[in-house]
Amino acid sequence: MAGRDERIRRIEKESGIDRCVECGRCTAVCPMVEMYVNFSIAMSPRGIIKKALTGEAVAADRNLWYCTECNAGTDACPQGVSCRDLVRGLRRLVLDAGKPEEMNVCPGCGGPFLAVPVEDFVLGRLKDEPPNVKNWLKLCPACRREGYLRRNA
Ligand code: SF4
Ligand code: SF4
Repeated sequence: MAGRDERIRRIEKESGIDRCVECGRCTAVCPMVEMYVNFSIAMSPRGIIKKALTGEAVAADRNLWYCTECNAGTDACPQGVSCRDLVRGLRRLVLDAGKPEEMNVCPGCGGPFLAVPVEDFVLGRLKDEPPNVKNWLKLCPACRREGYLRRNA
């Protein structure tokens, strides 16, 4: 089985970060700009990519957990770099070593689901909704689907 460093190199290669020309389009379309009052360049797709390219310990960076995995930056990139795949791959690597505090678990199955900053944003937008709506959103898609099927059986 590949070691941690080898896995990181593979994730970075498959995300295409070597092709980045620093144009900033990914950051211009990234929803995190609007979502977080503490948004910073370090949190942005360009910031994460730059950190990975300079060999810093990006997998240990808390900024990794703000991304929504929306893929908008990937679609906008003229170089075919995937910010989504980079973040997703690095998150999987971290999760394989144990659940970090930045990741919530699904209350239905106990599996990792939804990074804490993303859930905080979503629940903040829905703060006036009744608890059952918010609790439903805390379930992972598989558990939600099971719930729908049970309800409609
Ligand atoms: S859009 Fe692509 S090339 Fe431009 S900064 Fe982002 S990753 Fe780099
Ligand atoms: S995948 Fe993540 S980093 Fe890329 S645009 Fe979406 S939220 Fe931003």
